[in-house]
Amino acid sequence: MTTILDNHGRPITYLRLAVTDRCNLRCFYCMPEQGIRYLPKKDVLTFEEIQRLISLLASMGITKVRLTGGEPFVRNDLMKLIRGITKIQGIEELHLTTNGVLTGKHIPELKQLGLASVNLSLDTLDKQRFHAITRRDEFEPVMNTLNLLMEHQMPVKINAVVMDGKNIEDILPLVELTRLNKIDVRFIEEMPFNGEGNHYPTLHWTYKKILEYIKGHYPEIIKIPDPVSSTSSNYQIPGHMGNLGIIAAFSRTFCGTCNRIRVTAQGMLKTCLYDDGVLDIRQLLRADLKDDALKVKLLSAFQNRAKDGFEAEASRKNKIPVSESMSTIGG
Ligand code: SAM
Ligand code: SF4
Repeated sequence: MTTILDNHGRPITYLRLAVTDRCNLRCFYCMPEQGIRYLPKKDVLTFEEIQRLISLLASMGITKVRLTGGEPFVRNDLMKLIRGITKIQGIEELHLTTNGVLTGKHIPELKQLGLASVNLSLDTLDKQRFHAITRRDEFEPVMNTLNLLMEHQMPVKINAVVMDGKNIEDILPLVELTRLNKIDVRFIEEMPFNGEGNHYPTLHWTYKKILEYIKGHYPEIIKIPDPVSSTSSNYQIPGHMGNLGIIAAFSRTFCGTCNRIRVTAQGMLKTCLYDDGVLDIRQLLRADLKDDALKVKLLSAFQNRAKDGFEAEASRKNKIPVSESMSTIGG
């Protein structure tokens, strides 16, 4: 199997693809209350374009794909796309990141299709705080999805963004979830992708502070080895069934082993979360470029990757400071 190395010697094996920029929640760290200006449907990659792109990337060494968004399940007939991707040769793992609102009824089929895991975004276990954070009253369906995922023994990771003044009181209840459940909980530093361009000059709840806070309540916590190219630093509390992870998404401590590329809903390639798009793949697909020619373009982008998120941010062409919504990128 081919493995492509970028210009810093890092293998590129993991694609995160946003299937839509639309969403049924309005998490305040991701979008303004009034939402964002959604892409016209014609500007979003079609299922055929997505499958062609993934097949091509699989032939170049991508083995792992994560579908994200926006909320993947607001895209019509998402399951059709998932069925198609599971048949693509070379894709060994298909994962999904979802807010869980519309996910529940699809879990039996996702399980049957061999979906490798689901990342469920859940920042709080409290209904009122859920509403305050997401600006929508959808706590019950999300919790139902969590329960169904566990019933079907699907590997689950909960993603919780840690937000000053919003959900600090949820850190310990989320940690407690790992005691009796085989669920991993990952705490994520809040990033500036909130669709508004305003962010803290300095982040209060850094990965260090999150860890210190948890350690303060669970002094027995131990560091466990991090999987290759993991963005989370991983921990276990002895006796707990699930593990904990902390993702330094704003501090960017993990760039040295980054194996991932991103494709936005409109088909823009990002070789770093913090760049503002390095190749318009949609345009190339719609210009009827042959596979070989497309591969050359992709390879060239992989050979020009920023060393880390700080370099990528500094070389943004026009959007400084970061002001786009994470919903357009996929997280
Ligand atoms: N809608 C789906 C969901 O929420 O899981 C998938 C897309 S969402 C953009 C992907 C992930 O990005 C979620 O786990 C979300 O918490 C995270 N995210 C969004 N905005 C963020 C921000 N400003 N900082 C840190 N994480 C963020
Ligand atoms: Fe929607 Fe996910 Fe963004 Fe929340 S984080 S607004 S669920 S895309």
